[in-house]
Amino acid sequence: MRKISIFGATGSIGQNTIDLIDRDPASYNVVALTAGANIEKLAEDARRLNADVAVTAYENRLDDLRAALAGSGVEVAAGQNALTEAAARPADWVMSAIVGAAGLEPGLEVLRQGGTLALANKETLVCAGALVLETAKANNARLLPVDSEHSAVFQALVGEDMAAVERIIITASGGAFRDWPLSKLAHATVEQASSHPNWDMGQRITIDSASMFNKALELIETKEFFGVSPNQIEVLVHPESIVHALVGFQDGAVMAHMGAPDMRHAIGYALHWPDRKGLPVERLDLGKLGQLRFSEPNEARYPALRLARAVMERGGLSGGVFNAAKERALDRFVAREIGFLQMAEIVEAVLDRFEAAGGLIDAPLTLDNVLHTDHLARTWVDDIVIQRAG
Ligand code: NAD
Ligand code: MG
Repeated sequence: MRKISIFGATGSIGQNTIDLIDRDPASYNVVALTAGANIEKLAEDARRLNADVAVTAYENRLDDLRAALAGSGVEVAAGQNALTEAAARPADWVMSAIVGAAGLEPGLEVLRQGGTLALANKETLVCAGALVLETAKANNARLLPVDSEHSAVFQALVGEDMAAVERIIITASGGAFRDWPLSKLAHATVEQASSHPNWDMGQRITIDSASMFNKALELIETKEFFGVSPNQIEVLVHPESIVHALVGFQDGAVMAHMGAPDMRHAIGYALHWPDRKGLPVERLDLGKLGQLRFSEPNEARYPALRLARAVMERGGLSGGVFNAAKERALDRFVAREIGFLQMAEIVEAVLDRFEAAGGLIDAPLTLDNVLHTDHLARTWVDDIVIQRAG
């Protein structure tokens, strides 16, 4: 039996992971399941899967969790320290599927323990890429990509020499607004931004897909994970979401990874790696599909991509600042305090303010510095929102 833990178990990736575990419960021994506010779902899954411990990130929900798991034998805990403590429990495979920078610390702890971290939480690499990779290396830990594009690249690279890689192309569906005229985008609502044409995901990443902030984070994730230079990474808009990524080699060959848009493929690949095992995903019928379309992204429509390129060039702590400002701007958009296009404007203003402050972004890439600049970036988003409202 393999010991596994799932961080962010109640979310879209967490539930897809649990779907795979539920199909073969005899093979897994569940150590920890964690969640934010969805106590009911967390308790239900922890009870059914007989987890050792269930953890909520919110200390004020501990009593609710304890009540929901009464008599189950599942240990309960709450708060940030409890999350890190759960990450330190020995496990063979850990899914990192918390949304946002909150996934960084538990993920780092898993790596410190020398474990295998299946990384859906792209923010971990965006905020602290070099630190995360160094921690993995120093502790003989393994990092496996779960983001569909990065899993696709990882699979296309099996048996290949990185030195022969010329470029990596990640695809983007274009999100909810790909066919909208630019002039309408300023008035896009939260509801409109929260529906994705192809993928069924959490609300935050769905809105990030509409704004291309998701692809922006993925550009940085690609650079960090595969160690390529920014000018080797391209984005292609591909409305069907069938080709997830392509790798171009120095002989001109291009390996594309295809599959139905179902995250259980990337999750299952990481779960069974280095083997391939049967997965309950729809089989492709290209004849029925008829055609696959590709086009270059329009940077005027998607300023997030331009900002991500600047962040990749800038390095240092700018990835974490970019992510934190994006997270806070997204909170403000979801709260209907700013418009859809203002998210990118505000993120850019925060990046500029960090440059003007001098030195902050060039501080060493330590966890403390990442957390400090993350906090500052969020505060500055709030300042700008208040200024603009006033
Ligand atoms: P989601 O919003 O559906 O779920 C997030 C999970 O994290 C939930 O269990 C929630 O309770 C928990 N959580 C939220 N805030 C927390 C906090 N502050 N501390 C601890 N736990 C917290 O998100 P999702 O769509 O499953 O995405 C999870 C991660 O995977 C994100 O980093 C996302 O970018 C990435 N990802 C998701 C998909 C997808 O198909 N959903 C695809 C690729 C990558
Ligand atoms: Mg992705």
